Amino acid sequence: MSRKRVIIVGGGYAGVQALRTLAPSGECDIVLIDQHPYHYLQTEAYELIANECSMTRVMIDLVALCLSYGNHVTYIKDTIREVDYEAKRIIGNISGHSYDYMLLCTGSRTAYNGGTEGLREHSHGVKTLQSALSFKQQFEQRLYERMESEGGWCSEPFNIVIGGGGLSGVEIAAEMAHYIRIFHKDNTLTCDNIHIFLIIPHETVLEGMEEYLIKQATKRLIQLDVKIINHSRITSVQEHALMLNGTDAICFDFMIFTGGIVASTLTAGMKVAKNKKSQLITDEYMRVVECEGVFAAGDIAELHDPEGKLVPPTAQGAEASGLSAAKNILALIQGKPMIPSDVRLKGMMIALGGGYASVSLLGWMRFSGVAGYAIKTIIMRGYHYLLHRQCAKGLEHMPKKQAKCRMGF
Ligand SMILES: Cc1cc2nc3c(=O)[nH]c(=O)nc-3n(C[C@H](O)[C@H](O)[C@H](O)COP(=O)(O)OP(=O)(O)OC[C@H]3O[C@@H](n4cnc5c(N)ncnc54)[C@H](O)[C@@H]3O)c2cc1C
Repeated sequence: MSRKRVIIVGGGYAGVQALRTLAPSGECDIVLIDQHPYHYLQTEAYELIANECSMTRVMIDLVALCLSYGNHVTYIKDTIREVDYEAKRIIGNISGHSYDYMLLCTGSRTAYNGGTEGLREHSHGVKTLQSALSFKQQFEQRLYERMESEGGWCSEPFNIVIGGGGLSGVEIAAEMAHYIRIFHKDNTLTCDNIHIFLIIPHETVLEGMEEYLIKQATKRLIQLDVKIINHSRITSVQEHALMLNGTDAICFDFMIFTGGIVASTLTAGMKVAKNKKSQLITDEYMRVVECEGVFAAGDIAELHDPEGKLVPPTAQGAEASGLSAAKNILALIQGKPMIPSDVRLKGMMIALGGGYASVSLLGWMRFSGVAGYAIKTIIMRGYHYLLHRQCAKGLEHMPKKQAKCRMGF
């Protein structure tokens, strides 16, 4: 019997977890396709934009990772734009690829509120490494220019607006506020006229999350002087001003929008069951039932826990669903029965600026402050460390010159 060919599209949290599950068995040929040669650690984006870490901390080399498992795993850099599930083929910008099994893990993108006028054009995102870096560079440049032109004193207010009070909006607001505090404290130049506005549509931040996390996050944001504007919807945006609820105007120097997600564009052309966010509907084995041999995991799919409750799009959910999908692909290859997915969140960790975090684990362990941050850091660094160690094995298989270049010699 010929070896099966498994294609994983998307090397994010779900795709990488699937790769780590499938590759060690050596029982199939695996192709990982991603538009970027790295896995971007979005969960640490807030540290990158607040200058708490370098770019290398938030990326994992997919080429080295694939090489580390041996010749049966290949990485291809391509952007997939079409799935022909009748022919069992996918088509990318560069080439087409046939599969026996395919796992779609292309994640999600920012939902721009049904086309709120000017929002996409005048706000920054952090969902890609490129957008996070671009925000960071432009922000620092702008701050510098303001201080230069005003003789080292920001006499005019410098406003940063963050739209969306979910996990990413809260983490970015807190980390930016802390960064600005440090900037003001450490710098000989005076710039204490920077304000951060967090605009949220609901009564509180982190709507729908545990009460403990909401309280701790709100307390910390207030302590960091973040101005929370609740019950507010951004109705239009211009270059340096936005309207709230169609009536109140806020001027800003920078705007980040984090308000919600929709599935990656890949689902647009797929004539299969989807929800309002264009996420694919899968069965309990993570299969896209209309397409033979196709599975989906991570933000691209609507995730449920074993009790049928919706699981919000998180890195944790992506990893758990990637694991389930990969185990079931392997089961089919081995002729074994599939097992229903077990996607559930074991806890929530929210970074709240300056070595401070709130953590709730397993429904009963709760920590805030430095202890919370230590737990979050251990878990995040652990994830990075294990992947980095695996990549190091891949570097040994690379042609010498290329390996040196990747290690930065
Ligand atoms: C600022 C921020 C903070 C967050 N904080 C947390 C947190 O603290 N905890 C938590 O659990 N979650 C957090 N999240 C959410 C979490 O990052 C996402 O839920 C998670 O990344 C989803 O994983 P994924 O594998 O589905 O998609 P992704 O990680 O987005 O990976 C998708 C991959 O697919 C690739 N891709 C996309 N389209 C194509 C295509 N057409 N062809 C080829 N490749 C393609 C992309 O390049 C990418 O590598 C945060 C998100 C953000 C933005």
